[in-house]
Amino acid sequence: MAVKDDCIFCKIANHQIESNYVYEDDLVCAFRDMAPLAPTHVLVVPKDHYDSVLDDVPAEVLAAMAHAVGQIAKSEGIAESGLRCVTNVGEDGGQTVRHFHVHVLGGRKLSADMGEGSAR
Ligand code: AMP
Ligand code: ZN
Repeated sequence: MAVKDDCIFCKIANHQIESNYVYEDDLVCAFRDMAPLAPTHVLVVPKDHYDSVLDDVPAEVLAAMAHAVGQIAKSEGIAESGLRCVTNVGEDGGQTVRHFHVHVLGGRKLSADMGEGSAR
């Protein structure tokens, strides 16, 4: 298992530190964000360490992440009302934890603004 010693999400994903889990399988797990931005705010993370979605993540891991999002949408009761999946990358993307994760946000009408200010 390719984990990184000093990585908080490696520790949570592999139960070295326990969290508020909402989904788990062999490849990924999901737990509640400690600073939720919406009634549902779950983080889906691979059990192996990848810095971000750009880090040559195997297709089976990406598929497991997508499957987890679907399971969470159902269990959180937001599959019909809708949700947003976001993965931040690097400095400009606002990534603060350098272990690939997908935010799953829902349970309220989310802002159409995908970032700060104008794209131009
Ligand atoms: P990002 O800014 O995309 O890297 O997102 C990191 C997210 O991880 C933030 O929304 C934090 O609130 C959340 N977070 C950081 N540490 C923990 C933790 N130990 N347990 C749960 N959520 C965390
Ligand atoms: Zn990690």
